[in-house]
Amino acid sequence: MAELTSQEVVDLTRTLNYGTWRFQKGWMPMHVVDAEGCEIIDGDGKRYLDFSSQLMCSNLGHKNAAVIAAIAEQAQQLAYAMPGYATTARAELSQLLLEVLPQGLNKFFFTTSGTEANEAAFKIARMYTGKNKIIARYRSYHGSTSGSIAATGDPRRWAMEPAGKLPGVIFAPEAFCYRCPLGHAAANCGNACANYIEHMIVNESDVAAVIVEPIVGTNGVIVPPEGYMPRLREICTKHNVLLIADEVMSGWGRTGKWFAMEHWGVAPDILVTAKGITSAYVPLGLCATNEKIAAYFDDHYFSHGHTYEAHPITLKPAVATIKEMQRLGLVERSAELGLYLGEKLRELQTRHVCVGEVRGKGLFWALDLVKNRATKEPFATYADKVSGKALLVDQIAGKCVADGMTVQSWVSHFVIAPPLIVSKEQIDFGVALLDKHLAMADEQC
Ligand code: PLP
Repeated sequence: MAELTSQEVVDLTRTLNYGTWRFQKGWMPMHVVDAEGCEIIDGDGKRYLDFSSQLMCSNLGHKNAAVIAAIAEQAQQLAYAMPGYATTARAELSQLLLEVLPQGLNKFFFTTSGTEANEAAFKIARMYTGKNKIIARYRSYHGSTSGSIAATGDPRRWAMEPAGKLPGVIFAPEAFCYRCPLGHAAANCGNACANYIEHMIVNESDVAAVIVEPIVGTNGVIVPPEGYMPRLREICTKHNVLLIADEVMSGWGRTGKWFAMEHWGVAPDILVTAKGITSAYVPLGLCATNEKIAAYFDDHYFSHGHTYEAHPITLKPAVATIKEMQRLGLVERSAELGLYLGEKLRELQTRHVCVGEVRGKGLFWALDLVKNRATKEPFATYADKVSGKALLVDQIAGKCVADGMTVQSWVSHFVIAPPLIVSKEQIDFGVALLDKHLAMADEQC
């Protein structure tokens, strides 16, 4: 078979494959052939700074020798064993997880994605509590299968689940001070949006769990106010409702702690994660539960599983990823460099009238673009996004690509989340490109 040209690769990809980007007419995927450190390399050999770690997942950067060796070793030794067997990879990873996960989470279910890990979490919560309803928040993303998209609050749930969403999920307002859904001013709201969740629990009854992204990801890197998460914990405990932390994106050092919940010292009953657990070298998701839940399943049948559950080739590189993060001190590095990145992004806000808010923690930031700072009107709505309309943020991201940087654009904001190994020079390069191209948005303010 003759080697395919870059153009052929792009055309075959576009015409023969489904993908969520596809609904954007004229989708023209980049032919990626290589990647190294914080850069990806296309078919013409052009390098791009990866300013969002692909989908906020390539935390260790590309070509980490230890992770690659772990994949190869596991493939050579034992590529697959059905989940009913014990494997060294699973035992090693489980032991290591006890070291790095928030305290109290001590029983694990391994999947191949964050979506599946959330599905497991919902089933566990419903089985354990004997209750049915899940409270999720409007600005949220929890995955794309029927259950997890039903628990997704943003309008993707309508676009991605045409048959209508599964019952059993109700939505709460998000803890978003910049655009408070309850109309409060940030400082003195008394955690009104958390209290509203208590109101829902009491009035709905039958609530099994509340699921939150501790720092909301794709919906705009939304950091809740200080008292929110402790208050939510208090409410859940009081009403025997489980608190599920979806740390698929916010985990693994991204926010300057191993897990974002640590910023508030709050222990979830269930923690779901994926992405950074293997730094995206292989597909792995995790649903971790606390002792109470684990004890329940000692006596009750856990009716759940996948062929690829706890797949050895996904587990061994997770061990290597965690050890590499520890060796390189990447969680501390994320906290430290995050201060630098935050400062640089705030400088952009002083120069560009289109930047409404800069928010984030660690190496996880959003630039929220607005047409008008006073009204906070965004450049596009979620409806525009799901209709496939050309969006200004995507055009700006396209200009950045032309200049050698990829960055995730979403509705009216950018998610800036470079690999945790990023250098200050690379941060400067990325911020300078944003600086250059944000002028395009300023003109429309
Ligand atoms: N939960 C959150 C917070 C996410 O950001 C994502 C993906 O971006 C998911 C769940 C779904 O994970 P996956 O894409 O691995 O299925």
